[in-house]
Amino acid sequence: MKLGQHIASIELYTHQDSAEPAYQPVLLWDDSGATLVDTGNIGQMDQVTQAVEDAGLQLSDIKRIIVTHQDIDHISNLAELTAEYPDIEVWAHADEVPYITGVKPLIKMTDERLAKMPEAAQSAIRSLFDRLPSIRIAREIKDGELLDIHGGMRVIHTPGHTPGHICLYMPKEKMLLAADELRVVNGELAGPAEAFTPDMEEAVRSMHKLKDLPLDNIFCYHGGLYDQAPSVRLAELLKSLEQS
Ligand SMILES: [Zn+2]
Repeated sequence: MKLGQHIASIELYTHQDSAEPAYQPVLLWDDSGATLVDTGNIGQMDQVTQAVEDAGLQLSDIKRIIVTHQDIDHISNLAELTAEYPDIEVWAHADEVPYITGVKPLIKMTDERLAKMPEAAQSAIRSLFDRLPSIRIAREIKDGELLDIHGGMRVIHTPGHTPGHICLYMPKEKMLLAADELRVVNGELAGPAEAFTPDMEEAVRSMHKLKDLPLDNIFCYHGGLYDQAPSVRLAELLKSLEQS
């Protein structure tokens, strides 16, 4: 889906007959090449390839991948992409790097959780783990940093969902790429999924960093675009989360 000039979402579906995409990386491109924000879940490489082509680009146009956080639905095709295209740079927040590169175990994919999964899923996840040490981080990005992408993209460190979770803000478009800090659920803006947010209080505190941004659009990895007075709704959401 086209989100703006030279910005498109990469819609990834869990099943062929799913009505809504489950995951939505974002692809941006300018004179400095294309940037992919997150890479989808296990088994979705073909969908990623197709969606990039649908946006009028090729995987070889991707110059960098920004990883918003370590969860497997965000990092799963990273090793494959960087193995195939070694010039792709991977950027992430320092607090997330040890997980993405397999130095520390992913915080939510514990042995206990893994053991409850079907055999096929377990082996797919274990082979993902095996590939993580091949990932090289070219650049650690910091809170407040202005990236020279798309006319300037602000990094906002929003810990809580994971320690090094980031959102990305594009002032020109007044668009926030919220990753998993926010979701769109049944058309409404929502906070991060509690079941997958180990430190919900910190995630809510992180939301304060977002609430004063001039916003026309919020784009969530889960649920997509929210453009109904996003600032007003974000303030309301923050209030309700702090009261609960
Ligand atoms: Zn996610």
